[in-house]
Amino acid sequence: MSFTRLKIGSGSPTCTPFYSSSSGTSPLASPPPLFRNRSCLSCQEEYRPENTVATCKQCLEGKNQEIEDLKSSVSTLKERNEELKVKVKELESKVKFLGWSSPVDHRSMDLEDDRYSCSYAPDVVLVASDDGINVVSAHKAILINKSPVFKAMLRNEMEESQTSRIKISEVSYHDLCAFVNYLYTAEVNLVDDQRAQDLLAMGEKYQVKHLKAYCENFLSSKVNASNALKYLTFATKYKAEDLVESSLNVIIENMNKLKLQDEYEELVKKDPHLVIRIYESYHERKLS
Ligand SMILES: [Zn+2]
Repeated sequence: MSFTRLKIGSGSPTCTPFYSSSSGTSPLASPPPLFRNRSCLSCQEEYRPENTVATCKQCLEGKNQEIEDLKSSVSTLKERNEELKVKVKELESKVKFLGWSSPVDHRSMDLEDDRYSCSYAPDVVLVASDDGINVVSAHKAILINKSPVFKAMLRNEMEESQTSRIKISEVSYHDLCAFVNYLYTAEVNLVDDQRAQDLLAMGEKYQVKHLKAYCENFLSSKVNASNALKYLTFATKYKAEDLVESSLNVIIENMNKLKLQDEYEELVKKDPHLVIRIYESYHERKLS
């Protein structure tokens, strides 16, 4: 209901204010409650109410701001919670990968069992193809436990199990050190994209899925319009499906630009199947 104050007989000392309402016009002894000053429930100051809210305008704005701030805090906490969930998942996966092993405590273990076998001193060396001199020492039990490929080499009557010397081809000494260290610690410093690619390739070759996934995740975050075609080729070669998807996403978003690149021309000549895959994904995404 709205009220309008009507002035009758301006200046007359005997006039009585009238208030009109939707129900008609009638003389009232005093203004209706909405027109009187009130004491703000929040700051206790007198204020002229403009609506039915029991606080002054400033306090109301202050409260609204507090609500906005709280909403923003809740959303930040939700994001943080999601980040922590991802972190916990990573740590669980790491613990699973590491299993029982500590690189320094192998004394009570027996060579017959994968999970508990390990002699105290390193009992195998790995040799990088680019370096016949510097070798990386390791424990057979760790290699067997972490890689089905090493397991097959070392458990069967292969040269490697006889000589306790494993040649690792197409790998630099530094990459080999990082690889072996990862088998013990599930930690690696991916100094650049090249290191991540080299270790992903090793993860695929020796079936160390945990390392492969780690490198793949790292590379997926680095894909952009200038390297997407290169990464698509790389990821397809090493069956890194997540990286394939990330690369395809970027390629499809930048189709017109990428088609003008020399790399695209090369891809059409060298790997037409991959170009077909790009177009299939492009159309799939357009339809969905
Ligand atoms: Zn107030």
